[in-house]
Amino acid sequence: MLHWGELKGFEEGQYILPDLPYDYDALEPLYDEQTVRIHHDKHHAGYVKKLNAALSKLEDARKNNDYSSIQAVSNELAFNGSGHVLHTLFWHSMKPGGGGEMPGELQSAIEQSFGSAANAKSQFAAATKAVEASGWGILAFEPMSQKMLILQCEKHQNLTIWGVKPLLVCDVWEHAYYLKYQNNRGEWVDNFMELANWEFAAERLAEAKEAMTAGGK
Ligand code: MN
Repeated sequence: MLHWGELKGFEEGQYILPDLPYDYDALEPLYDEQTVRIHHDKHHAGYVKKLNAALSKLEDARKNNDYSSIQAVSNELAFNGSGHVLHTLFWHSMKPGGGGEMPGELQSAIEQSFGSAANAKSQFAAATKAVEASGWGILAFEPMSQKMLILQCEKHQNLTIWGVKPLLVCDVWEHAYYLKYQNNRGEWVDNFMELANWEFAAERLAEAKEAMTAGGK
């Protein structure tokens, strides 16, 4: 079983470009060597480089207590972080001689979620082909229902990094604060910080760390 730590996308305090889990030409002829080489060595590498750059800008911002660029840098963090995570998963999502039958355990989970493996494959292909502009098709596990879902992802950043587990959330839709705070979102957020349930966040963090290492390394 591959856990996050074994995907080799982070080492010694920074994100790194993981080696491909196979040779550049291993997916020929379905996925050609030249495309794989440029995709991995240039595109994926670019995300990693800019992700680390965003982190170091954030470190400077904290050091100088200067958050004047926070929106742009948070955007760079999400865009490049999501790019790195999704590409890392993408390389492992293919293998030479892939396709074919699913392992039995996955097959029965897929049947529970989608009716049959054929349904799941059709929905995955249809959803992925229909992604508007740039994006991804994603087979995902949704922990609340314990079921799988197929998602279309457009603009993969949208200020998140796929795979993160939310620990504490603050709602800034207008409905969350407008009656009391009207347009003063800042005041609402400042007051939210006074309400923050750090114990809840701590429990979620412990749970996330446990799940990440479940099954051992
Ligand atoms: Mn790509």
